[in-house]
Amino acid sequence: MTDKSFNPFEMAQTQFDSIADKLDLDEGTRELLRYNQREYHVSIPVRMDDGTVKVFRGFRVQHNDSRGPAKGGIRFHPMETINTVRALAMWMTWKCAVVDIPLGGAKGGVICDPHNLSAREQEGICRGWIRQLSRDLGPLNDVPAPDVMTTPQHMLWMLDEFETIRGSKLPGFITGKPVGMGGSMGRTEATGYGVIFNVREALKELKIPPADTTASIQGFGNVAQYAIELYNQIWGKVVCVSCWDQKDQISYSFKKLDGIDLVELKGITDRFGGIDKKKAEKSGYEILPGDAWIEQEVDILIPAALENQITGENVGRISDKVKIIAEGANGPTTPDADKEISSRKIFMIPDLLANAGGVTCSYFEQVQCNMNYFWEKDEVLGKLDTKITNAFNAVNGLAKSKKLYMRDAAYVIAVGRVVEACRERGWV
Ligand code: NAD
Repeated sequence: MTDKSFNPFEMAQTQFDSIADKLDLDEGTRELLRYNQREYHVSIPVRMDDGTVKVFRGFRVQHNDSRGPAKGGIRFHPMETINTVRALAMWMTWKCAVVDIPLGGAKGGVICDPHNLSAREQEGICRGWIRQLSRDLGPLNDVPAPDVMTTPQHMLWMLDEFETIRGSKLPGFITGKPVGMGGSMGRTEATGYGVIFNVREALKELKIPPADTTASIQGFGNVAQYAIELYNQIWGKVVCVSCWDQKDQISYSFKKLDGIDLVELKGITDRFGGIDKKKAEKSGYEILPGDAWIEQEVDILIPAALENQITGENVGRISDKVKIIAEGANGPTTPDADKEISSRKIFMIPDLLANAGGVTCSYFEQVQCNMNYFWEKDEVLGKLDTKITNAFNAVNGLAKSKKLYMRDAAYVIAVGRVVEACRERGWV
C-alpha cells in the first residue's frame, strides 16, 4: 500500500526463509509455508449514489489453516495491493501461532477510499465482498475482522449479508462487531493495549520504570490512540504523534515536549485518524512535515500506521536514546533497517507479538459468540493481558537463552508451531 517498488510479500518471504534456515526445514515444508494456500480475486459491482455502477477490486488470501480456521482483517485502501494482502495473511499465521491461539492466517482487502464514499456505497462494497466470497468464508474455515479503514459497522453489514445468504444466525463468522451485536467488550482497545502490555514487560526486563520514559508514535488511529491511553495510565509520556493528511497527501508529526493531551487531540481528529493541523497548532503543538516522529529523542518508538516505514533510508535517524521499538503496525520495518536495529541492540518487540492483542481479542469474541455468553470488559482485558504477557515471556525467554534477536525468537516459536501442526496432520 505504500511505494510501488516495495513488495511486502517478498519481505515476508525473506523473513520466513531466514527462520526456515534456522529451523533447518526441508524443501517441502518451505515450499508449503512460503506461499499462501488459497487466494481469491473478486470484482464487486456497486451502484453509486449518482446512479452509475462502479466495479471495485477485492482480495482474500488464506495463508495457512493447519492450526485452525484462517483469521484476518479486511482493509479498505486506495492503494491496496495483492502483495500487501499476501504478506499480511502470512504474518497472521505467525501472529496467531506466537500467542498460541487455535487459528490460522488470512487477510483481505478492497481497493477503495472510504473518504470519498457515502455510507450507502461502503455498505454496497461490504455486501458485495461477502457475496463474492461467502462460499469460501465461514466460522469454521475463515473468519474476517476489521483493519485499516474498516469499522464495526462494516463488519455488521458483512455479517448481515453472510447470514442472509446462509439463512441462519452465525455471529462467530466475523469479529470486531459492535458491542451488543455480538462484539466483545475490549476489542477496540485490544491491539493498542496489547502493544503496551508488551512495552511494560520489556521495560521490566530492562529495569526501567515506565514513569521515567517518553515515546514517539507514528499514526493516530485505533492502535495508536489506545496504546497512548494505556501508556499514559502506566505514567509514560508521549511527546510526538503523526498522521496522514488526506488533503495535503503527506504525513505530519505533532510534537509537544510536555506530553500530548490524548483527549484533546482525539477531539480534533477525524474518524480516519487525521489530526486538524490548525487546531493542533493553536493548542501549542509543533507541526513537522514528514516522518519527524522517527528522530525524536525518546526511549520508545511505536510505529502504528502502515508497513514499510522504518527503512534503510531513515533508520540512521533513530536517536541513540531509543531503547525499545514496539511495532504496533504490521511490517513497519524493512529487513535492511531491521539489521541495523538489531546491531544497535535496541529491544525490538516485533509486529507479530506487539500487535497480537487484536487477534487475541477477536478469538475471545468468537469464543463468546459460540457460547452466546459475553464477558465483562475487565475479564476480557485480564485474559488478554495474561495471553500477551505469556507470549512475551516465551519469546523473551528464548531470545535470552539462545541469544536471538527478538524478531527471530518470535518467528522460531511461531513457525515451529505451524510446522508441527502441518507435520501432525501429515501435510509435510
Ligand atoms: P487506522 O486506520 O485506525 O489508523 C491509521 C493511522 O495511521 C491514522 O492516524 C493515519 O492518519 C496514520 N497514517 C497513515 N499513513 C501514515 C503515514 N504515512 N505517516 C504517518 N501516519 C500515517 O489503523 P489502525 O487500525 O490503527 O492500524 C494501524 C496499523 O496497525 C496497521 O498496520 C494495521 O494493519 C495494524 N494493526 C491493526 C490492528 C487493529 O486491531 N486495528 C491489529 C493489528 C495490526
